[in-house]
Amino acid sequence: MSKDVYVFIEQRDNQLQKVGIELLGKARELADDLGQQVVAMLLGDNVKQHAELLIHHGADKVIVIEDPMLKEYVTEPYAKAVAHIIKKYDPEIALYGASSIGRDLAPRLAARIHTGLTADCTGLEIDEESKNLLMTRPAFGGNLMATILCEDFRPQMATVRPGVMQALQTDTSRKGEVIEEKVDFEPKDMNVKIVDIVKSESKKKDITEAAILVSAGRGIGGPEGFQNLQDLAKVLEAEISSSRAVVDAGWTTKDRQVGQTGKTVRPEVYFALGISGAIQHVAGMEDSDLIIAINKNEGAPIFDVADLGIVGDINAVVPKLTEALKREKK
Ligand code: FAD
Repeated sequence: MSKDVYVFIEQRDNQLQKVGIELLGKARELADDLGQQVVAMLLGDNVKQHAELLIHHGADKVIVIEDPMLKEYVTEPYAKAVAHIIKKYDPEIALYGASSIGRDLAPRLAARIHTGLTADCTGLEIDEESKNLLMTRPAFGGNLMATILCEDFRPQMATVRPGVMQALQTDTSRKGEVIEEKVDFEPKDMNVKIVDIVKSESKKKDITEAAILVSAGRGIGGPEGFQNLQDLAKVLEAEISSSRAVVDAGWTTKDRQVGQTGKTVRPEVYFALGISGAIQHVAGMEDSDLIIAINKNEGAPIFDVADLGIVGDINAVVPKLTEALKREKK
């Protein structure tokens, strides 16, 4: 009989990725609702040392598969290893990050294991009566939310974007079990050859990792409007993010977009500058600890979610704020 909530833990260069830890937090909630356990699937080469940290973040068990074939992510060996775990242990639920790795791995597994997959979920819950997993995601271009069920096949599988779920606080008193598995890889399993890994040079931090975000809306008026925001971001050691209108206008890149079709962020401080506060934008930033909005329209919906609102022209207010912060820093 299927049981337990499994989470695929992503690692790159032997560094655990945040999304797996976040999913353990959600898995803990789901497993508690089902009266079952959370199991982390940790794959790589020399990765076993991370098992304890996964237990401290909510896992009851960690299944480790170590093999040189799993050092870098390659679809076939990873699919073979995860399929081995799923076939042997028969999970009730399996969760993956909606990262480039998870988006490649999860559909292949769904086909191999013959089960369903709901991609890019923003909500996961257990149905009180049926105990099925309710997988909610935006549908029809984000115009409605669809809740999808996988009633007839197991595991019920979902991918979730980084930043959507919240990781649990580390609890070093938690104890768990580490199980080592082996997979008999054959040379033919490595059907791709990694010739070279070239990392893109980026000084920009991922907006989901930033403690402070200075976010630009259409109200900045054009690409030149970023200058004021960059000056502010520099003093605050913040990252720049934006609304979709700014991305659509070509003033910045898609990786900066906050919102339903962008990234979900939870910084300590979120500056919404010249952003109206459309529901699709707010969906991606409303859980920020402190929201400060500047908008010249006092009726802008962003003020409904802001902790601190300034009615004014950003071209006048932002430089003054930057100067005041500079003076404060001295
Ligand atoms: P606007 O709505 O044009 O607002 C500009 C604001 O700036 C106004 O409130 C104005 O009063 C103010 N302003 C203008 N000049 C100044 C000034 N000088 N000083 C101060 N204030 C000024 N949007 C997202 O952001 N993220 C998403 O992920 C997203 N996904 C979407 C998905 C779907 C399916 C759909 C239909 C829409 C989506 N949108 C998303 C778009 C969203 O509905 C809004 O159109 C968008 O957020 C508007 O961006 P904005 O607030 O920057 O621009």
